[in-house]
Amino acid sequence: MSGKQPVYMDHQATTPVDPEVLEAMLPFFSREFGNAASRSHSFGWRAEEAVEKARESVASLIHAGPPEIVFTSGATESDNLALFGVTEALYRKGRHIVTCRTEHKAVLDCCARLEKLGYEITYLPVDRHGLVSPADVLAAITEQTVLVAIMAANNEVGTVHPVAEIGRIAREKGVPFHCDAAQAVGKIPIDVEAMGIDLMAFSAHKIYGPKGVGALYVRKRHPRVRVAPQIHGGGHEKGLRSGTLNVPGIVGFGKACEIAGRVMPEESRRLAGLRDRLQERLLSELDDVHLNGHPERRLPHSLNVSFACVEGESLMLALDGVAVSSGSACTSASLEPSYVLKAMGVSNELAHASLRFGLGRSNTAEQVEYVADRVAENVERLRRLSPLYEMPGPGGRSAKAKGAGPARM
Ligand SMILES: *Cc1c(COP(=O)(O)O)cnc(C)c1O
Repeated sequence: MSGKQPVYMDHQATTPVDPEVLEAMLPFFSREFGNAASRSHSFGWRAEEAVEKARESVASLIHAGPPEIVFTSGATESDNLALFGVTEALYRKGRHIVTCRTEHKAVLDCCARLEKLGYEITYLPVDRHGLVSPADVLAAITEQTVLVAIMAANNEVGTVHPVAEIGRIAREKGVPFHCDAAQAVGKIPIDVEAMGIDLMAFSAHKIYGPKGVGALYVRKRHPRVRVAPQIHGGGHEKGLRSGTLNVPGIVGFGKACEIAGRVMPEESRRLAGLRDRLQERLLSELDDVHLNGHPERRLPHSLNVSFACVEGESLMLALDGVAVSSGSACTSASLEPSYVLKAMGVSNELAHASLRFGLGRSNTAEQVEYVADRVAENVERLRRLSPLYEMPGPGGRSAKAKGAGPARM
């Protein structure tokens, strides 16, 4: 493999559109351009037919019924619709939400807004692996609680929450359970029935579909979940989300779900193997490398590690041609250490020293070896330049690093 070819290992941020998905979408930009809401001619009928076929594929991947799928512009909008829609519908019941400190900003920023509007929000802690405790969820629910919002899997560290247990607790208490599953859908089996999920946000571009399209699952039966629409005008999507449907996007989303359902078991096994190999190399070849996230209860393609005495940002830049992320893509614009790692009790120093790898469909075993080589070489180089690392600690730091040759800039 050429050292110049860029390697993409940031699949938590987004994924490329699968060629099969693109092919399915293309006719709907031109020849099949009808408005799915046009009832009076065949252009509209064919667009509607394509949308309904996609709705079936999307529903099938998560064991939902097609009428329970509301198409949106992505998981962010779906989270907004869930949080504002449920709180508005249950306005008379209460003003309390249970969520978790390591949720995606799409949930946390809605909670912050609701707090301004007078809601009380319980932000549950997580353990050092990033896991929320179902017992804490149970203890936090009060007579005033109108929503439990806990994600399926975390976007920064990949930790998979005990969703089914949380679903059972919420159901027993009669509180709707919203789950942001943008990272989990298509990576691990998600079954809204078996997991007791009432509302669920997910997104096409995290599963090799196009950007700008997603869905909110809204349970229709046992029990029916009430959601007040947040976008008005025309009554599309059974009145829950007005606006002309993004037909090519929805068709692509449907195809992406169909492919995910087909390849998930094999792909997850393969990516977990590659991820484990990358992890094993980094942890065995370098000293002072810390795994962030749960060692077992973790998304198969996800790896987050901290390299003591190395700035994650500097390492990321040094890995020119290897696309990874330091902290979450959504927060890496700021210099604050990741709030997810902080909530897990990771020190400021190690939080700043973290790197997130996200393997995907196109990554090869060869690329994993290449990335491991480049990371190891750059970590050692940056450590040789680091006054912190040279500092003699109790028993000294790294024999490997000290024995290595002179620093190359
Ligand atoms: C990517 C992501 C989102 C946002 O999804 P968009 O479709 O980009 O709006 C929300 N939650 C989680 C956990 C994500 O990973």
